[in-house]
Amino acid sequence: MNILILGSGGREHALAWAVAQNPKCDRLIVAPGNAGIAGVAECADLDIMDGAAVVEFCAEQAIEFLIVGPEAPLAAGVADAARAAGILTFGPSAAAARLEASKAFTKEICDACGAPTAGYARFTEAGPAKDHIRAQGAPIVVKADGLAAGKGVVVAMTLDEALAAVDDMLGGAFGAAGAEVVIEEFMSGEEASFFVLTDGVNVLPIGTAQDHKRVGDGDTGPNTGGMGAYSPAPVLTPAIQQQALDQIVLPTVREMAARGTPFQGVLYAGLMIENGRARLVEYNVRFGDPECQVLMMRLGAQALDALLACAEGRLAEARIDWADDHALTVVMAARGYPGAYAKGTVIRGLDRCPEDSRHMVFHAGTALNEGEITATGGRVLNVTARGDTLSDARNRAYAMIDHIRWPEGFCRSDIGWRALK
Ligand code: ATP
Repeated sequence: MNILILGSGGREHALAWAVAQNPKCDRLIVAPGNAGIAGVAECADLDIMDGAAVVEFCAEQAIEFLIVGPEAPLAAGVADAARAAGILTFGPSAAAARLEASKAFTKEICDACGAPTAGYARFTEAGPAKDHIRAQGAPIVVKADGLAAGKGVVVAMTLDEALAAVDDMLGGAFGAAGAEVVIEEFMSGEEASFFVLTDGVNVLPIGTAQDHKRVGDGDTGPNTGGMGAYSPAPVLTPAIQQQALDQIVLPTVREMAARGTPFQGVLYAGLMIENGRARLVEYNVRFGDPECQVLMMRLGAQALDALLACAEGRLAEARIDWADDHALTVVMAARGYPGAYAKGTVIRGLDRCPEDSRHMVFHAGTALNEGEITATGGRVLNVTARGDTLSDARNRAYAMIDHIRWPEGFCRSDIGWRALK
């Protein structure tokens, strides 16, 4: 089968790596891809936000299965356009992608189906929003309603911080995404991610993970897109996973279907766990990055079978063969990230890193320039390994990093610390 994956990050490299191992995959194209993806798939230049262009490309290349990686094309309706053109597609419709694209919508769904989540109120005017904050007190969480690339959330420990966030967001700092704010009760606990595939009716859990958002060791410094991740997440015990399925995920899937907008794709539930119980922090409608890298490392070739079963509405008969394994990924980023950083620096030593079913360097932001791999983004490499135990996976990942010669890059030295302590 000919398969097209949309995206260009570490997530898409991991997806491509897993999909390419499955004998059902004859030809694999990733658009636009990157220098690492070029090692496992053909890369193609394509505007992935343009549904008509994607449909035309699929026709030209005889694509039989389309996998949409990032949230932006999903929210823009690229999966709808592909399905309307008769292309078998993995990824939700724009209507269902609102579970990520609008925080207020997600709260509405939680209310309707009784899913446990933080209490909240919605505002489009600063005055009433501030009155609400003063009445509630700090800590309190202020969120821009729409997509803001992970930057539209302020967990305010003081009233002043919360009031300033309201001014920022309603003042236009995030454009249309901040025209409405959601003000939430602060939830304490430990965060973890729960991933399920759903065909709109059936649900198949495909793993748990935890990531490290802060840039520095010991979870210090500014927030980033994620500096590392591991799977499984020990805090998500089988009992808590079952509670999250029964009280959060399944009611959401049923509510979406009842509204005539069934969700098909990967539903990524960000959960806060406290006192043995999970509450929903947020939904994402695509794989996490870097969480996808550890999930794909564990799933391998069977990922394609699961994604196909999902897209074809056959999830009831799908299953995952778990190897009782662990995976961990360490992000290597350009020095300065998440602030300003240099582009175009040369990365050497990648040829000394093993690449097999237990070791992979997934590329997030790289290009090939005159035979050399260069960094093109903030988060650049995902050094990923799998082992019998989490510490085995961690040791393998850091052993690979020892081979990589990139003076302008850095990584955290303590990925997995919480689960390993
Ligand atoms: P990202 O894309 O980075 O996951 P996002 O913009 O989609 O972020 P959320 O996941 O809703 O936003 O919030 C970002 C982070 O803020 C969460 O991972 C969590 O750490 C924190 N957070 C969000 N809501 C709450 C809450 N009600 N109580 C405590 N912390 C919260």
